[in-house]
Amino acid sequence: MDRAHDLVGRAPAGDALDDLGDVTLLPGLIDAHVHLLLQGDVTTDDYDEQIFKESLPYRALRASRAAKIGLSHGFTTMRDLETEGAMYTDVDLKRAINNGIIDGPRLVVSTRALSVTGGYGPAGYSPEISYPRGVQIVDGVDQARKAVREQIANGADWIKVYADRSYFIDKDGKLSSIPTFTRDEMKAIIDEAHRLRHKVAAHAMARPGIENALMSGVDSIEHGISIDNDLLDFMVAHGVYLCPTLTVTEFVAPGRAAEGRAIWAKIPEFHRDSFNRAVKKGVKIALGTDAGGFAWDAVNEAKELSYMTKYGMTPQQALDAATRNAAQLLEMDAQVGTIEPGKFADVVAVPGNPLNDIGVMEKVSFVMKDGVVVKK
Ligand SMILES: [Zn+2]
Repeated sequence: MDRAHDLVGRAPAGDALDDLGDVTLLPGLIDAHVHLLLQGDVTTDDYDEQIFKESLPYRALRASRAAKIGLSHGFTTMRDLETEGAMYTDVDLKRAINNGIIDGPRLVVSTRALSVTGGYGPAGYSPEISYPRGVQIVDGVDQARKAVREQIANGADWIKVYADRSYFIDKDGKLSSIPTFTRDEMKAIIDEAHRLRHKVAAHAMARPGIENALMSGVDSIEHGISIDNDLLDFMVAHGVYLCPTLTVTEFVAPGRAAEGRAIWAKIPEFHRDSFNRAVKKGVKIALGTDAGGFAWDAVNEAKELSYMTKYGMTPQQALDAATRNAAQLLEMDAQVGTIEPGKFADVVAVPGNPLNDIGVMEKVSFVMKDGVVVKK
């Protein structure tokens, strides 16, 4: 082991880091796209069961387990990008973690997310019955601005917006989608969030959504399954982050295609190509997995680093995406993302050298969060 512990800013860290054996020490990992309140969303039934059959207290209990699993995998900071119908439960999770009630990563939360009438599930039920939705539905610029104010008043750190839906292949063979918000609505959401000093993440998979979000001033594109080159250039020029979530695509695509959503058989190939071009163009990329879209105990989130290297990054680039770059996206680079004096003592250890074998990132053997050992 090298003397990296000398760099750790807190006194207790030194003792805890001795005797770890032949390991590489890294800053605590950051997953910039998770859903702690979701426990797998391969099929429509998976999703609807959680919304209709699980109470919010039960979902909170499951989320506390998810937080513990993610932390044990070395993710000491996470951006939770909406509760999928669990209202403001992420704010409570964050509070419980900060107050030492439960173990979990440091959270940046976005509460309910925004979409339009007809834009989000559960869907397909009788119009005579009313039931909870996975997001806050808003129509028109006034409702949009009010919802942003409401979410921030209730504890949202970020605003999450769904920019598109209903994916299909267009006549040119490209992935396309139906946009949710009009340009005016999208601009209102982003303007209101920025006015209140908060940033906006947009779920955007194909050109109609990606372009609408980018031209309205969004801060990060989530998924970005098919981003045209001119829009990648725009992202580079304006410093917009991509949070690619390769893991969830690889995990959910076969099940969704088998369920009858045939487009999902084609989505992984679009995604790999788009990610590869983004890397080559030098788009800022922060690691995000969409954990919760796959069950928290089904895949180790660190598998994302393997996918990133498989589809175009060097191991060092993938490690940067999981640490310092994600910290910059979250505007937390003064606190996390590197091991330096004055930052939180978030440290993980992996066996061997991840620059030679990125797969060791799934074998985190030691986790320290803010100077406290949470796994050894
Ligand atoms: Zn997501």
